[in-house]
Amino acid sequence: MDRFAALSARLRPVDGVRLWANAPMAPFTTIGTGGKAKLLVTVGSAEALAAVLAAVQEAGVDWFGLGAGSNLLVSDRGYEGVVIKLDESFHYVEGLPAAPIEPSPDCRPVTLTVGAAAFLARLAAVVAEAGLSGMEHACGIPGSVGGAVAMNAGAYGWCMRDILTGIQIVTAEGVRWVSPDGLEWGYRFCGLPERSVVTAVRITLMPADCKAVMECQRGYLRQRREKQPRSVRTFGSAFKNPPGNHAGRLVETAGLKGVRKGGAEISSVHGNFLVNLGDATTADVLTLMALMRQGVERVSGILLEPEVKLLGAEFPWDPQADRPGERPAGDG
Ligand SMILES: Cc1cc2nc3c(=O)[nH]c(=O)nc-3n(C[C@H](O)[C@H](O)[C@H](O)COP(=O)(O)OP(=O)(O)OC[C@H]3O[C@@H](n4cnc5c(N)ncnc54)[C@H](O)[C@@H]3O)c2cc1C
Repeated sequence: MDRFAALSARLRPVDGVRLWANAPMAPFTTIGTGGKAKLLVTVGSAEALAAVLAAVQEAGVDWFGLGAGSNLLVSDRGYEGVVIKLDESFHYVEGLPAAPIEPSPDCRPVTLTVGAAAFLARLAAVVAEAGLSGMEHACGIPGSVGGAVAMNAGAYGWCMRDILTGIQIVTAEGVRWVSPDGLEWGYRFCGLPERSVVTAVRITLMPADCKAVMECQRGYLRQRREKQPRSVRTFGSAFKNPPGNHAGRLVETAGLKGVRKGGAEISSVHGNFLVNLGDATTADVLTLMALMRQGVERVSGILLEPEVKLLGAEFPWDPQADRPGERPAGDG
């Protein structure tokens, strides 16, 4: 019995665990490329997750915590490890007021507890309808709440850290809540404890005029519709914005918008978005990323740092060349 078969045999009886051997990963990513994972494990409770993490680590097998796959590129060769995903049990919001609270100078903030598999953009819409302000900028970010914590997702000067007041994490040792104050945060970076998965968060929002919050969201969505390609398979920004600049603008200045490789394209709408035209491979996407990076360095002297996360693959350049991210002036 190989170690994945042995691991599967150990995990199969665990309550709340479902297994999928040789699972195709492309459907689990928004770009829609990549090969298979040796084992996909979905978990239905924090306790089941802790048991899975303990078993996987004991087996000495690599693992990866998957969210909504909206910032992820999986190798065409697939992943020789276990992909762990929270199931629909982690789609919940607790603490929403039954009706919008009348905003007043002395009204108090509202704290919600949200499952980590909930979709960030949907959560932003739900809290807006409930008359809570603080997540307007998150509308249009297509990841999960857990992924938004791990990436410290953000837009228009706002980031996930701004609303977090608690993070539930699970490791092989068990379940615990940590304070966001005790973690290191940066631009698209969160220093989560080693080998942990986020399973829930507490977010604190302020009662506000419901219509104003929704109007504000509509404004941000309009901006996205104007500046970003629509109804395409993409993982959003390929590179982080360098301080005081925009990766998309730099790629445009390098004359690379619209360039294609195989089934992938550097969007002609937004220079930092890569699009799967239908039959792209991860290799096509990585080739374009290398071209963007080289082109921008040649024309502007700036070395772009990737934002997208890789699974089972490597960037086609020396990783030592990547500089740690700093918070930029730009957004998205
Ligand atoms: C059209 C489009 C627009 C976008 N716009 C924005 C934007 O404006 N701002 C922005 O910041 N991002 C943007 N993104 C990128 C993406 O949506 C965010 O990075 C998002 O937070 C990723 O969440 P996810 O659940 O999809 O994570 P995944 O892509 O599944 O994973 C990303 C990383 O998070 C980790 N992770 C996921 N879930 C967990 C968890 N529960 N616990 C611990 N680690 C976890 C993974 O291990 C991985 O390292 C955009 C993407 C698209 C496709």
